[in-house]
Amino acid sequence: MCGIVGYIGSSKASDILISGLKRLEYRGYDSAGICTIENNSLVTTKCKGKVADLESKINSSLHSGNIGISHTRWATHGEPNSINAHPHSDVSGKFSLIHNGIIENHYAIKEYLIDKGIEFVSDTDTEVLVQFMGYLYNKEKLDFFNTLKITLQEVVGAYGVVVLCEDEPDKIIAARHGSPLVVGLGEGENFVGSDVSAIMEHTRNILYLDDGEIIEIDKDNYSIKHIEHDSEIIKEIKKIEF
Ligand code: GLU
Repeated sequence: MCGIVGYIGSSKASDILISGLKRLEYRGYDSAGICTIENNSLVTTKCKGKVADLESKINSSLHSGNIGISHTRWATHGEPNSINAHPHSDVSGKFSLIHNGIIENHYAIKEYLIDKGIEFVSDTDTEVLVQFMGYLYNKEKLDFFNTLKITLQEVVGAYGVVVLCEDEPDKIIAARHGSPLVVGLGEGENFVGSDVSAIMEHTRNILYLDDGEIIEIDKDNYSIKHIEHDSEIIKEIKKIEF
């Protein structure tokens, strides 16, 4: 399980994401990637190798938006290369998703989706999550939040996931089960990380997500639920001191 950093606010997301990924480099990884929303479109850059390689590949003017997600991958399914690097997308390109962990029933979900005509591009277990989201979204006409929530109800395995949706470009939705995820609360900006070290240079106000929790985050607010229930979860904000 490797590194996750997400940002929404009014600063340039790509700068914050790259600096957060650098703080997570100590964990080891084989590839890295970023997705930001630019004029309501998802723009992704990813590569095998180091965060510095990703940084030099990023066209700064193409990644100038104020919302984004980023990942350093430690391959478990599929070799380390730029196609298998996260973020991954669905066929329609509506969603972008990063994932730490392992989806144990990925083979069964993939078979189901291939049968429905969905074409996969990577060898990862992760891609089934985002492809299933895309399939459900088109078929059931759900919103972004419920698309992720229902997708995760079908999943067996461990995950920390963070997702963007082109149709709801002012929010990040994240969830965890068996893989750590924290949310940093700022002033007019919010952060997601797999580890507080990724975000603590920006804020000391932290929400620690528990297993089964799903959070919707915009730049000023957040709302937490359980993936199996509809009621709102109220969580204590912890202040980290260093
Ligand atoms: N299982 C996923 C993959 O192989 C995620 C690996 C990770 O946690 O970095 O792509």
